[in-house]
Parts: sequence; structure tokens; C-alpha cells
Amino acid sequence: MAAFEHFTEHVNAAAKLAGLSEKERKALEKPDRVLRADLEVALDDGSTATFSAYRIQFNNARGPYKGGIRFHPEADEDEVSALAAMMMVKCAVVGIPFGGAKGGVTVDPKKLSTREREALARAYVRAFAGDLGPDQDIPAPDVYTNPSVMAHMLDEYEKITGKSQPAMITGKPIALGGSLGRDTATADGAIAVLEALFEDEGVHASELTVAVQGAGNAGSQAARRLAHVGAKVVALSDSSGTLEDAVGLDVAAMLEGKEQKKEFSAVGKVAPVEAVLSAKADLFVPAALEEQLREDTIGGLSTRYVLEIANGPTTPEADVLLAKRGVTVVPDVLANAGGVAVSYFEWIQGRTGDRWGKEAIETRLTETMRSAYREVANFAKEHDTTLREAAYALALSRIAEAMRERGRV
Ligand code: NAD
Repeated sequence: MAAFEHFTEHVNAAAKLAGLSEKERKALEKPDRVLRADLEVALDDGSTATFSAYRIQFNNARGPYKGGIRFHPEADEDEVSALAAMMMVKCAVVGIPFGGAKGGVTVDPKKLSTREREALARAYVRAFAGDLGPDQDIPAPDVYTNPSVMAHMLDEYEKITGKSQPAMITGKPIALGGSLGRDTATADGAIAVLEALFEDEGVHASELTVAVQGAGNAGSQAARRLAHVGAKVVALSDSSGTLEDAVGLDVAAMLEGKEQKKEFSAVGKVAPVEAVLSAKADLFVPAALEEQLREDTIGGLSTRYVLEIANGPTTPEADVLLAKRGVTVVPDVLANAGGVAVSYFEWIQGRTGDRWGKEAIETRLTETMRSAYREVANFAKEHDTTLREAAYALALSRIAEAMRERGRV
């Protein structure tokens, strides 16, 4: 099933609980704008390559569009649309005043030199500059993009517009107005939600064994934070394989090894990439790509909890099966919203020129995530439904209300 269909399935499932009219439901399933461009980049060998690029904007009734840009060989319009739609839902789940957006370039960035990657980042901004901006649409990093890519994008945007506009992009380097805590925000937010859930369940993170899939920006921080709160990380994977240790991996050492050697397969003995899915653990944390938990991959999954740090890691069919097995799935639109929450704090700092200390960021992030969890969990309990359906229902009702107030539906 295509990624965007997953989104519409979630909307359909939650529409009644959200009290949406048919017209409102239809409006929520349609992007406002699908922008496409072919980006030409001069390569180091003197030739020119062309890459397909997208920016998709989804419902700005609650505020400007907001969402990351990924560089990935499989990024396409369907995937980017689904991710944009999820951003719309996510911002509403955690109550921050943004709509949804996502960008993508179909490229394998590992095959580009540093100079070529910079040229690609600048070409992206030149193509879409008219539709970006602090009050219009605010990008951020996503898979295989990082603060340095954001710095080049900001620089290009300011060259075009001729003024300083730090709030046009988030996830920037600190030296350019990036926020403290942005690098760990997604993982910190996810852990805040997990701790709130465990308080309800009378579980302590230190009693847990954990398997983490993916060791990029989000997964590595999540593994670190989980190890820090005393959980035993028994499996940790990247695209080269799975590191396993039933008594608990030395997460810091493994990640340091990956930083130096690029891949876990060069750090130690690895099991196949899929082995992480059948690790004996209490908690599974998908933090790689979409659709990793499918009917055909969850047979060996034995965890009681799933914390979705990746976007769209579980297919709707697998979701139903996991619910039947009594697995509590903390959905992506809640679990990984810490990144966009701190992006919001960065945007406020960029607009006001104020600088917030690390403690202020951490306190506000924890409050934002805990209160979002509380609202979602209460709604789920009241309506006897899953956390995902509750999160979608709450978010969609908030967006529909904003559309009604504006007279759009
Ligand atoms: P990233 O590019 O930094 O890392 C991706 C990681 O996944 C890499 O370690 C890669 O080796 C690994 N990977 C790829 N295929 C794999 C496979 N088959 N098995 C195991 N590992 C595999 O990306 P990221 O920013 O960490 O994002 C990861 C996920 O989290 C994405 O779904 C992204 O949309 C989501 N997310 C990230 C943030 C953030 O702030 N970084 C915020 C919200 C959601």
C-alpha cells in the first residue's frame, strides 16, 4: 500500500471520533499545494545531474506550513505527501501553531561529495524560495539532511531575499541561530512521552530491555537516552546490520565506533539488518524508515511496547495485529513530535531575537510532550481506542475547528 493511503486510512478511522463532516474529512485529505522541480547540479567530474525535488504543503489553517526536507533515493511524491500530511497532524497533536509540509529530493546523498551536496541544497532553495519563508513555510532537517544543509539553505534564501531571516528554517547550526536542544529534541520528546506512559502503567524504564532500529540523528540519541535512564539496549541496528548483546550493549562505545567507521558492520560482529525485529526485548523503537513493521515482518516481534520515532514505521494492517496482541504503540505523530516542538521554539527565537537557555528548552519540551500525551491517553481511554486513533481524532478536530473559524469549510 502506498504511504499516502496509510494516512487516509488513519484519517478515515478517526473521522467519526473527531466529529468531522464529510466535507471536512475530504478537505483534510488534500494537500494545498504540490510543488515540483528538477534540480540541476554541476558534479565534480564536470558533468551535470538532474534530481527530482518536491515541496508539499498541507493545510495552513492553524499556522504556516512546517516540515523537514529529506535527501533519499526513494523519496517520491507519494512519500513526501504522506509525510507532509503527518506533519499537519503532528503539529496539532502537540498544540503548536503550524500546518504540515515536507520536502524531498530523489537522490542518494552518500554518492555526492560535500560540495555537490551543498550545491543541491542551494538549488532546492532557488527552486522553491517563493513558497518558503518564516510566515509561509519553514523547512527543517529530515533523513540524510542535517544542520549544515540547513545553513546552506538559509544562506541561499537570504541571498535571494536580501535580508536576514533566521526564522525561515529550523535545525540550523547554533552559530546561525539554531536552538539549544534541537539535536536531541526528537529523542528527548519521545522519552518524555514514554516516561508519562510508564507512570500510568507502573513500569520503570530501568526495568526494560530495548531494541532500537536505526542509528541516525533520532535513533542514536534515543538509544543514548534509553541507556541513560537505565534501560538495557539489547539490539541496535543501522542499514549495515544489527548489533546484539543480551546483557546490554555499550551504546556510547558502539555509536562512537559508528561515527568513526560509518557502519556498525565495521564496528563489531553484526546479525542481519532484520534481526533487530526479533530481538527479545520489552520495547521496540523504530527510528529508521517507513513501513518496517508489516504483516510479514512482525512475526518475531515480541515486545510489549512500540515507540514510533520514525515516521510511518507501522502499516495499518500491522497496527491492527499489534493492537490484537495487546502491544501498546505510541504513534509517530505523538512520539516523534519533540523535534517539531523544539523547531517551534527555534522559530520563536528567530522571530524575536531572544535566546533561550537549555533548561528553558528542556522544561518547555517536557511540558509540551507530557501534556500532549495526557490529552491523547485520556481521549483513548474515554473512547476505548488506540493511542494512534486518539491522536488523529484530537488533531483532526483541532484543524477542522480552525478551518471552520476561517470559514473554509
Ligand atoms: P538519519 O538519516 O539520521 O538516520 C536514518 C538511520 O536509519 C541511519 O542510521 C540508517 O543507517 C538507518 N537505516 C536505514 N535503513 C535501515 C534499515 N533497513 N534497518 C535499520 N536501519 C536503517 O535520519 P533521522 O533524522 O534519524 O530520521 C529517522 C526517522 O525518524 C525518519 O523516519 C524520520 O522521518 C524520523 N524523524 C526524525 C526526526 C529528527 O529530528 N531527526 C524527527 C521526527 C521524525
